[in-house]
Amino acid sequence: MVIFNCLMRGHCCKKFWIPVTHLDLLRIMEYCGIEITRDIVSLYEAELYEDLFYPRISLGGKKYFLALASRSDGSCIFLDNGKCSIHRFKPYVCRFYPFVYVEKDGDVDIEVNENAIGECPGLILDNDSIPIDLKNTLKMYARIRIQELKLYEKVVDDWNKSEFSANGDIDYLLLYILRRAVYDKKYLESIGMWHI
Ligand code: SF4
Repeated sequence: MVIFNCLMRGHCCKKFWIPVTHLDLLRIMEYCGIEITRDIVSLYEAELYEDLFYPRISLGGKKYFLALASRSDGSCIFLDNGKCSIHRFKPYVCRFYPFVYVEKDGDVDIEVNENAIGECPGLILDNDSIPIDLKNTLKMYARIRIQELKLYEKVVDDWNKSEFSANGDIDYLLLYILRRAVYDKKYLESIGMWHI
Protein backbone atom coordinates (compact mmCIF):
# COMPACT_ATOMS: atom_id res chain seq x y z
CA MET A 1 0.00 0.00 0.00
CA VAL A 2 1.11 3.55 -0.69
CA ILE A 3 0.19 5.68 2.30
CA PHE A 4 -0.12 9.42 1.95
CA ASN A 5 -1.17 11.72 4.72
CA CYS A 6 -0.29 15.37 4.19
CA LEU A 7 1.46 16.51 7.37
CA MET A 8 1.02 20.17 6.37
CA ARG A 9 4.70 20.93 6.86
CA GLY A 10 4.81 22.93 3.65
CA HIS A 11 7.98 21.15 2.55
CA CYS A 12 6.87 21.01 -1.11
CA CYS A 13 5.71 24.65 -0.91
CA LYS A 14 9.28 25.73 -0.17
CA LYS A 15 11.12 23.43 -2.53
CA PHE A 16 9.34 23.93 -5.87
CA TRP A 17 8.07 26.86 -7.87
CA ILE A 18 4.47 26.50 -9.01
CA PRO A 19 3.57 26.96 -12.68
CA VAL A 20 0.02 28.21 -13.15
CA THR A 21 -2.57 28.47 -15.88
CA HIS A 22 -4.95 31.36 -16.49
CA LEU A 23 -7.67 29.24 -14.85
CA ASP A 24 -5.58 28.60 -11.71
CA LEU A 25 -5.28 32.38 -11.35
CA LEU A 26 -8.99 32.90 -11.99
CA ARG A 27 -9.87 30.48 -9.15
CA ILE A 28 -7.60 32.37 -6.76
CA MET A 29 -9.15 35.66 -7.83
CA GLU A 30 -12.79 34.60 -7.81
CA TYR A 31 -12.93 32.27 -4.84
CA CYS A 32 -10.22 33.72 -2.57
CA GLY A 33 -10.94 37.36 -3.42
CA ILE A 34 -7.27 38.01 -4.19
CA GLU A 35 -6.41 40.51 -6.88
CA ILE A 36 -4.05 39.02 -9.44
CA THR A 37 -1.25 41.52 -9.79
CA ARG A 38 2.45 41.33 -10.64
CA ASP A 39 3.09 40.76 -6.89
CA ILE A 40 1.24 37.44 -6.99
CA VAL A 41 3.09 35.95 -9.95
CA SER A 42 6.65 35.32 -11.08
CA LEU A 43 8.08 34.83 -14.54
CA TYR A 44 10.72 32.11 -14.83
CA GLU A 45 13.04 32.31 -17.82
CA ALA A 46 12.21 29.35 -20.03
CA GLU A 47 15.76 28.91 -21.31
CA LEU A 48 16.84 27.88 -17.79
CA TYR A 49 14.33 25.00 -17.77
CA GLU A 50 14.71 23.50 -21.22
CA ASP A 51 13.17 20.13 -20.32
CA LEU A 52 9.99 21.57 -18.83
CA PHE A 53 6.95 20.90 -20.99
CA TYR A 54 4.74 23.91 -20.31
CA PRO A 55 3.48 26.84 -22.38
CA ARG A 56 6.16 29.50 -22.84
CA ILE A 57 4.99 33.09 -22.77
CA SER A 58 6.72 35.65 -24.99
CA LEU A 59 7.27 38.94 -23.25
CA GLY A 60 9.60 41.68 -24.37
CA GLY A 61 11.54 39.32 -26.64
CA LYS A 62 12.11 36.55 -24.07
CA LYS A 63 10.19 33.39 -23.19
CA TYR A 64 8.90 32.71 -19.69
CA PHE A 65 6.88 30.31 -17.58
CA LEU A 66 4.14 31.94 -15.54
CA ALA A 67 4.20 30.83 -11.89
CA LEU A 68 3.16 31.86 -8.42
CA ALA A 69 5.46 34.35 -6.74
CA SER A 70 7.94 33.13 -4.14
CA ARG A 71 9.37 34.82 -1.09
CA SER A 72 13.11 35.40 -0.66
CA ASP A 73 13.49 32.04 1.15
CA GLY A 74 11.94 30.26 -1.86
CA SER A 75 8.61 29.55 -0.18
CA CYS A 76 5.35 30.11 -2.02
CA ILE A 77 3.69 33.45 -1.43
CA PHE A 78 0.59 31.63 -0.18
CA LEU A 79 2.38 29.58 2.47
CA ASP A 80 1.26 30.96 5.81
CA ASN A 81 2.65 29.49 9.04
CA GLY A 82 3.36 26.21 7.29
CA LYS A 83 -0.12 25.97 5.73
CA CYS A 84 -1.55 26.86 2.37
CA SER A 85 -3.73 29.95 2.75
CA ILE A 86 -5.64 29.13 -0.47
CA HIS A 87 -5.81 25.38 0.14
CA ARG A 88 -9.27 24.73 -1.32
CA PHE A 89 -8.55 26.71 -4.48
CA LYS A 90 -4.85 26.03 -4.89
CA PRO A 91 -3.36 25.53 -8.38
CA TYR A 92 -3.76 22.11 -9.94
CA VAL A 93 -0.02 21.39 -9.85
CA CYS A 94 -0.20 21.53 -6.04
CA ARG A 95 -3.07 19.05 -5.92
CA PHE A 96 -1.12 16.15 -7.37
CA TYR A 97 2.00 16.18 -5.23
CA PRO A 98 3.43 13.67 -4.18
CA PHE A 99 1.84 11.92 -7.18
CA VAL A 100 1.88 12.58 -10.91
CA TYR A 101 -0.57 11.76 -13.65
CA VAL A 102 0.43 9.99 -16.84
CA GLU A 103 -1.64 9.83 -20.02
CA LYS A 104 -2.17 6.21 -21.09
CA ASP A 105 -4.31 4.66 -23.83
CA GLY A 106 -6.55 7.73 -24.11
CA ASP A 107 -7.06 7.93 -20.35
CA VAL A 108 -5.01 8.87 -17.31
CA ASP A 109 -3.29 6.95 -14.56
CA ILE A 110 -1.74 8.07 -11.29
CA GLU A 111 1.76 7.20 -10.13
CA VAL A 112 3.98 8.19 -7.24
CA ASN A 113 6.17 11.18 -8.12
CA GLU A 114 9.70 9.77 -8.01
CA ASN A 115 11.05 13.16 -6.96
CA ALA A 116 8.86 13.01 -3.85
CA ILE A 117 10.24 9.71 -2.57
CA GLY A 118 12.32 10.45 0.50
CA GLU A 119 11.36 14.12 0.26
CA CYS A 120 7.66 14.24 1.15
CA PRO A 121 7.34 13.41 4.87
CA GLY A 122 3.71 12.29 4.44
CA LEU A 123 4.46 9.67 1.78
CA ILE A 124 5.12 6.07 2.90
CA LEU A 125 5.83 3.41 0.29
CA ASP A 126 5.11 -0.23 1.16
CA ASN A 127 4.37 -1.46 -2.35
CA ASP A 128 3.04 0.09 -5.55
CA SER A 129 -0.70 0.31 -4.93
CA ILE A 130 -2.31 3.72 -4.39
CA PRO A 131 -5.62 3.70 -2.43
CA ILE A 132 -8.49 3.60 -4.92
CA ASP A 133 -10.41 6.62 -3.55
CA LEU A 134 -7.31 8.79 -3.71
CA LYS A 135 -6.49 7.48 -7.16
CA ASN A 136 -9.98 8.23 -8.47
CA THR A 137 -9.93 11.77 -7.09
CA LEU A 138 -6.54 12.42 -8.67
CA LYS A 139 -7.70 10.94 -11.97
CA MET A 140 -10.62 13.35 -11.98
CA TYR A 141 -8.21 16.23 -11.31
CA ALA A 142 -5.92 14.96 -14.07
CA ARG A 143 -8.70 14.94 -16.68
CA ILE A 144 -9.63 18.50 -15.74
CA ARG A 145 -5.98 19.54 -15.73
CA ILE A 146 -5.40 18.17 -19.22
CA GLN A 147 -8.42 20.06 -20.52
CA GLU A 148 -7.34 23.30 -18.81
CA LEU A 149 -3.79 22.99 -20.11
CA LYS A 150 -5.07 22.70 -23.68
CA LEU A 151 -7.03 25.93 -23.20
CA TYR A 152 -4.03 27.62 -21.60
CA GLU A 153 -1.79 26.56 -24.49
CA LYS A 154 -4.21 28.26 -26.88
CA VAL A 155 -4.28 31.45 -24.80
CA VAL A 156 -0.48 31.58 -24.65
CA ASP A 157 -0.21 30.86 -28.35
CA ASP A 158 -2.62 33.70 -29.17
CA TRP A 159 -0.76 36.04 -26.82
CA ASN A 160 2.60 35.16 -28.36
CA LYS A 161 1.27 35.91 -31.84
CA SER A 162 -0.30 39.19 -30.75
CA GLU A 163 1.23 42.65 -31.00
CA PHE A 164 1.17 42.91 -27.18
CA SER A 165 3.80 40.27 -26.45
CA ALA A 166 6.68 42.41 -27.71
CA ASN A 167 6.30 45.27 -25.24
CA GLY A 168 6.91 43.24 -22.08
CA ASP A 169 3.99 44.63 -20.09
CA ILE A 170 3.22 42.04 -17.40
CA ASP A 171 0.15 43.97 -16.18
CA TYR A 172 -1.38 43.74 -19.61
CA LEU A 173 -0.42 40.08 -19.88
CA LEU A 174 -2.35 39.33 -16.66
CA LEU A 175 -5.33 41.31 -17.87
CA TYR A 176 -5.29 39.45 -21.18
CA ILE A 177 -5.09 35.95 -19.74
CA LEU A 178 -7.68 36.63 -17.02
CA ARG A 179 -10.14 37.91 -19.61
CA ARG A 180 -9.63 34.71 -21.57
CA ALA A 181 -9.97 32.68 -18.37
CA VAL A 182 -13.49 34.05 -17.87
CA TYR A 183 -14.50 32.75 -21.31
CA ASP A 184 -12.75 29.42 -20.80
CA LYS A 185 -14.43 28.93 -17.43
CA LYS A 186 -17.83 29.39 -19.11
CA TYR A 187 -16.85 26.85 -21.74
CA LEU A 188 -15.73 24.32 -19.12
CA GLU A 189 -18.95 24.85 -17.17
CA SER A 190 -20.94 24.16 -20.34
CA ILE A 191 -19.25 20.76 -20.78
CA GLY A 192 -19.33 19.89 -17.06
CA MET A 193 -15.54 20.18 -16.66
CA TRP A 194 -15.28 23.17 -14.34
CA HIS A 195 -14.12 22.30 -10.87
CA ILE A 196 -13.02 24.59 -8.09
S1 SF4 B 1 -0.43 27.35 -3.49
FE1 SF4 B 1 -0.56 26.43 -1.47
S2 SF4 B 1 -0.11 24.24 -1.80
FE2 SF4 B 1 0.61 25.35 -3.63
S3 SF4 B 1 2.77 25.79 -3.21
FE3 SF4 B 1 1.58 27.58 -2.54
S4 SF4 B 1 1.22 27.26 -0.34
FE4 SF4 B 1 1.83 25.28 -1.23
